[in-house]
Amino acid sequence: MKIPFLSFSPQNTSIRTQVLDAVARVFDSQWYVLGESVKTFEAEYATYSDARHCIGVANGLDALHLALKALGVKEGDEVIVPSNTYIATWLAVSYVGATIVPVEPNIHTYNLDPAGVAAAITPRTRVIMPVHLYGQACEMDRIMELAQQHELHVVEDNAQAQGATFNGKKTGSFGSANGTSFYPGKNLGALGDAGAITTNDPALALHLATLRNYGSQRKYYNEVIGYNSRLDELQAAILSAKLPYLDEWTRQRQQIAAWYDQYLAGIPDVVLPVTAAGASHVYHLYVVRSPRRDALQAHLTAQGIGTLIHYPIPPHLQQAYAALDFKPDAFPLAQEIAATCLSLPLWPGMTEEEVQYVSAAIRAF
Ligand SMILES: *Cc1c(COP(=O)(O)O)cnc(C)c1O
Repeated sequence: MKIPFLSFSPQNTSIRTQVLDAVARVFDSQWYVLGESVKTFEAEYATYSDARHCIGVANGLDALHLALKALGVKEGDEVIVPSNTYIATWLAVSYVGATIVPVEPNIHTYNLDPAGVAAAITPRTRVIMPVHLYGQACEMDRIMELAQQHELHVVEDNAQAQGATFNGKKTGSFGSANGTSFYPGKNLGALGDAGAITTNDPALALHLATLRNYGSQRKYYNEVIGYNSRLDELQAAILSAKLPYLDEWTRQRQQIAAWYDQYLAGIPDVVLPVTAAGASHVYHLYVVRSPRRDALQAHLTAQGIGTLIHYPIPPHLQQAYAALDFKPDAFPLAQEIAATCLSLPLWPGMTEEEVQYVSAAIRAF
């Protein structure tokens, strides 16, 4: 059996007609940038996220960047980010010239440790950026409490956790402005790059809509130095066609994770994912850890099983951040996760037999 890391086949088959109809509608409308499709999707995604406003943008990195920019975060401000995240979270902070303050995760959930956040707050801290990593909601009750105590903004990086909740409240609805990504492989994926910001603040929403469109509300009148970071009509229409299926796809991801939990239970040296009390997990990724990760990955590759590492090098050890001069062992948990984590195949429509095959190969190893 050959099992890829990710397959769009079952998903694409089930929505082929709806997506191609949406493409045809935009094609025929002869309106391709910032029109009715974007407006409609923004309203739908705001409702889905329990947020009052949604601003469609070009990608997830722009969403995080513009969120920080709109909040006035600038040079001299400190932004707390996880030490173990995709580099996009850090890049958004770099773009506004603020200081990156990495905080180590909880080693069981891989999400930002609230105690570590508390210890990292200084008079210069402006923002906490929790990342709902691999699809699990961060402990948002404690993070929001800290933000309120110290009058800080929260900017959620919700790229991996669309539809997840903490104590029943949706991720992307807690922070002042929150970014998400519709990169094709994300839980809600476009057919290309796309992203969005969610916020409950109407003034911030207007400012963000201005920033993403050349700093302009009225064509050829520019109020601020803005960006070109618009969500395409085509991608918005495709996302609207897919959004009604997201909860069912999430249910399937959770079922697949439950199968992995069952078939991988009790294997020595294979650490399974843990979900915190109050958090829900939408399993963007099913990540296990092993002290012999590289050999395990090679073994699975030889069996025709695709896996990936999220992520092999923590941001503080990337060449891009060499100038920040972090000590190599400054964030040992981030390093430990990078050295041991392995993401197993998981996609909506993956069958129990496929999960059994992958699990048996791991057990044999
Ligand atoms: C995918 C991702 C992003 C960036 O999204 P793009 O649309 O690729 O720019 C940001 N943060 C995290 C955690 C991600 O997984």
